[in-house]
Amino acid sequence: MAKDEQLRGSTNAVSPEIVTATSFHTHPDLVGFSANDLTLDAPHFYTRWSNPTVAALEEKLAQLECGEAGLCFASGMAAISALFLTLLRSGDHLILSEVCYAGVAELAHDILPKFGIAVSAVDTGDPTNVAAAVRPETRLIHIETPANPILKLTDIAAVAAIARSCGARLSVDSTIATPIATRPLSLGADFVVHSLSKYLCGHGDAIGGGIVGSSAAMAEMRKEALIHHGGCMSPFAAWLILRGIETLEARMAIHERNAGVVARFLESHLKVEKTYWPGLSSHPQHELAKRQMSNFSGMVTFSVGNGIELARRVADAARTFSYAVSLGKTKSLVFYIPSDDIASSSYKMYPDSTARYKDWIGDGAFRVSVGLENPVRLVDELSAFLDKS
Ligand SMILES: *Cc1c(COP(=O)(O)O)cnc(C)c1O
Repeated sequence: MAKDEQLRGSTNAVSPEIVTATSFHTHPDLVGFSANDLTLDAPHFYTRWSNPTVAALEEKLAQLECGEAGLCFASGMAAISALFLTLLRSGDHLILSEVCYAGVAELAHDILPKFGIAVSAVDTGDPTNVAAAVRPETRLIHIETPANPILKLTDIAAVAAIARSCGARLSVDSTIATPIATRPLSLGADFVVHSLSKYLCGHGDAIGGGIVGSSAAMAEMRKEALIHHGGCMSPFAAWLILRGIETLEARMAIHERNAGVVARFLESHLKVEKTYWPGLSSHPQHELAKRQMSNFSGMVTFSVGNGIELARRVADAARTFSYAVSLGKTKSLVFYIPSDDIASSSYKMYPDSTARYKDWIGDGAFRVSVGLENPVRLVDELSAFLDKS
């Protein structure tokens, strides 16, 4: 069966089908035994190499990001480690947003140096810091915008110009923005990565990661990282994420609306010290947000005087919110991240960068993933917790 027929499935079903098979009938003239012989038009062969349901998601991601090709992995972290380990080798230099997903920061600071890869973490919120960090060996610049958890933005087009001028590639973690808000490739990035476990899945019931880039780069990454490191996505996760994507645009509109209601409530509350949402005119980078994001997404971050106390109360008694990690789910989630902990254990920050982090968000960040509930209920619950503090 030709690959496009395999992709469409044989039943003409309107909704995606799950193909759970680990291997596919093949022919000695079609596919070699080694992944090194894999050609772009090879039919499906073994599900770690490619699978019809996962391929449908890869095609969908490429469409959403207006890129040539997509590649899916078992998790966002599997996608990002594939990206780093395919593009970087011993002696190379990586520039990273100093504030980014904690797992990515730990991978870069704790693991890449073991392979002889040098890492500079800089405040990419100001692109001149990126230009100043460039070295002759700089191969990759990895930014996250808006950055989890403090919602600091990076100007993608400005950093893309720096990457081009020094011959490095630019990857953008666009998990919080989603393709509804921002299309990093059209702003000059070489790769866009997503934790599909968040808004793209949307229901908090599947883990996955995806990268979109040029067909040649994705084919290389499929061989080197997907097939040989082995972090392939399960067809069932691909199916759940494909189903989630059907409502992505509609969900993002409600996430944005609800986050606006929650952010404006928090901003006006006397006990709240700082509130960040890219859509607030008080966000220090609101002008960039308006230029770069056509939806301000559903994440709101705030701080109060005694954060750990409030965190305990919310964890004990929240009903509309869940006190839980992750984001981008139908249900609202809130989680407290003490600043000193994340600065030292994940970001390996120096005193000046720790001071910059705490200047932005104080002693701890409440990361709120605003869900799809009636926003009145969300504000009522937050209001009750804050008034007791
Ligand atoms: C969750 C997340 C990741 C990691 O994704 P997993 O699917 O949990 O492995 C990476 N980047 C960002 C911005 C995230 O929020």
